[in-house]
Amino acid sequence: MRVCLLASGSSGNCAFVSAGETRVLIDAGISARRVRRELEALGESAVDALLLTHEHGDHSSEAGRVAAEFGCPVYVSERTFPRVRSALTGHERLGLFRVGEEFSIGAFRVRSFRVFHDAADPCGFLLEGPSEFGAQRVRVGFATDLGTVPPPLRRLLRECEGLVIEANHDREMLLQGPYAWDLKQRIRSPVGHLSNEAAAELIGELVRRGRLRVAVLAHLSEENNRPERAWETVRAQLDGLFRCEIVVAPRDRRSAVVVL
Ligand SMILES: [Zn+2]
Ligand SMILES: [Zn+2]
Repeated sequence: MRVCLLASGSSGNCAFVSAGETRVLIDAGISARRVRRELEALGESAVDALLLTHEHGDHSSEAGRVAAEFGCPVYVSERTFPRVRSALTGHERLGLFRVGEEFSIGAFRVRSFRVFHDAADPCGFLLEGPSEFGAQRVRVGFATDLGTVPPPLRRLLRECEGLVIEANHDREMLLQGPYAWDLKQRIRSPVGHLSNEAAAELIGELVRRGRLRVAVLAHLSEENNRPERAWETVRAQLDGLFRCEIVVAPRDRRSAVVVL
């Protein structure tokens, strides 16, 4: 399986994932032209499906144009669909699902799971598909935009060899930073955004008690975080005892390609 975040953060999100002959995008908050350009740089030209996590504009605003560009269906939860309808053209093939359901897209087995975030029906995805290195199957979890990681989600993510997880803010930088107090409280709330510290704690648990080998830190705040600060917070949690690669996804250009 190959994973690359084409853009990540409040100014637009889009992740590319391939396994075998199947290619999917998760979220479409950047222009179709930019998605096309980034995929060309990766040597890719086709997309089999677009999956949406929730209706916030940084994840869904370009969904219709991206789906049209690649002629692919849009997978979205039944309760999120009415909220993204205006971003769609009306001509899309839709794959409607209930959060918690599983479905197949080509080589992928996709599990949707609930996350806590201030949207109508926000979800994350666990994608299972063939490894690039042999016959075994591997799993990558996608959880960006979530305020907290409750025990059932931790148990699910223990299955993952790869994880794309939000590391939105450094707690101290958020508190000291320029945002108004109520916005700070919203971000810190259980339905807001995950801090570096919370992401680090989760990654530490998943390395010790699960099978995590690569973590991609995503959705970093421009105001309240720094890539090196996010990386260092996670590295300190792992403390050199465990083998886990840490990749920080840039906000405005594509990330390194993770191969599992
Ligand atoms: Zn977002
Ligand atoms: Zn959001």
